[in-house]
Amino acid sequence: MPKILITDSIHDDAVELLKQAGTVEVATDLTVEELKEKIKDADALVIRSGTKATKEIIDAADNLKVIARAGVGVDNVDLTAATEKGIIVVNSPDASSISVAELALGLMLSSARNIPQATASLKRGEWDRKSFKGMELYGKTLGIIGLGRIGQQIAKRAEAFGMTVVAYDPYIPVEVAKNMGIELMEVNDLCKVSDFITLHVPLTPKTKHMIGKEQISLMKPNTIIVNCARGGLIDEEALYDAINNKKIGGAGLDVFEEEPPKDNPLLTLDKFIGTPHQGASTVEAQKSAGTVVAEQVVKILAG
Ligand code: NAD
Repeated sequence: MPKILITDSIHDDAVELLKQAGTVEVATDLTVEELKEKIKDADALVIRSGTKATKEIIDAADNLKVIARAGVGVDNVDLTAATEKGIIVVNSPDASSISVAELALGLMLSSARNIPQATASLKRGEWDRKSFKGMELYGKTLGIIGLGRIGQQIAKRAEAFGMTVVAYDPYIPVEVAKNMGIELMEVNDLCKVSDFITLHVPLTPKTKHMIGKEQISLMKPNTIIVNCARGGLIDEEALYDAINNKKIGGAGLDVFEEEPPKDNPLLTLDKFIGTPHQGASTVEAQKSAGTVVAEQVVKILAG
């Protein structure tokens, strides 16, 4: 019977699926030494973001055939070390797309209607019907930066809100955008025409601070920026200055340059709302992330 080692908590349905393929051991919060001992005779390692599958860990494994990351990013797996040993690395990049898209729309609606601020006011015992006048999404232009899995889910939903969608993504085929009725344009042009801007690109040296002082200066005074991708895509200092000086309408962020944010002045602004990196934190995304990789592990171990 193959041994399957699970070292981060994954959905129960995924554990049940894995039991079809071998003996399952769930052991979380292991030290490096404990993990090196347990992985020695394991055929599969199933992790989320907590476990670091470093070269040291991978080298300690004698039988390992597959490392499964329940979720998107595989930055906690040493891919070179795994490839050298012929270990297959699998993940579930689609699992959280809808959850992230829904959170981005939630932040757009919450910002546009000041929902968190009005809730806080109501809970203070106030009945302030003047301070929280908002704006509709209907008829507005949404600029999507990065028209990949999540960007496309947002585009579909934005259509239902009656929004015009434009996008910046130099790498997707023009037909993909065309078939969705989306106009592709350069990032600076997108900044000029959009009432809402939402980012869905990976963080790379090329995308770091891609929304900076220059881009923000092109935006309309009502523009709301949403980021559920990665902190670092937006220059937070420039964003703070723009919101503080009423150059743009506000921002909703799920991700920050430093997480958790420490003494981040954005958190002091009325027109700023945020969540603690919760894009994939839904029952459905967690279940899907676990079961999708479990199915792949079952197949790989069956040969
Ligand atoms: P994806 O790979 O499907 O799409 C990314 C898109 O960005 C691609 O279409 C690509 O062509 C485009 N792109 C790459 N470089 C670009 C550049 N320089 N300029 C413009 N476009 C560029 O990825 P996805 O699954 O849609 O995820 C998008 C982001 O969301 C990732 O950064 C991911 O880490 C993040 N994410 C966040 C959470 C969360 O919890 N908040 C959860 C899942 C994913």
